[in-house]
Formats: sequence, structure tokens, C-alpha cells
Amino acid sequence: MKIEIKDFCIRCGLCEDLYPELFHFDHPSDSIILKSEEVSGDLIEVAKNAARDCAIAAIHLKN
Ligand code: SF4
Repeated sequence: MKIEIKDFCIRCGLCEDLYPELFHFDHPSDSIILKSEEVSGDLIEVAKNAARDCAIAAIHLKN
């Protein structure tokens, strides 16, 4: 499964706070960095939860 963060992400930092195994807030570039753009195993559930929890639906998942 692939993860994508859309350009309209407001960089609230919630995804990094809740799911640091997948997301990193890179302060110098003021952007959210994916630690992996392709997830498998236990990280699939983490990615689904992150997509659900993002208040503006900026995290998209694709099979
Ligand atoms: S939770 Fe959503 S809006 Fe907030 S930083 Fe993460 S992707 Fe961006």
C-alpha cells in the first residue's frame, strides 16, 4: 500500500505525534516527511489510522 500526503496538508503535526513510525515533521523545510512511501504488514493499519485521524483528509492511501 502506498501513502501520499497531499499539498493541502496544513502541517498540524498530528500524524507525527500519533504515528512517529511513519511520519516526521521536518521543521527546516516545514514539511511532513514520510518515513516510507510504501507500507506493508503492521504499518498498513497504522497508515489507515493516520488517514482516518487527519482532520482535513490530507493522507491518501492507494493499493
Ligand atoms: S495530520 Fe494531516 S494535516 Fe496534519 S500534518 Fe499530518 S497530513 Fe498534514
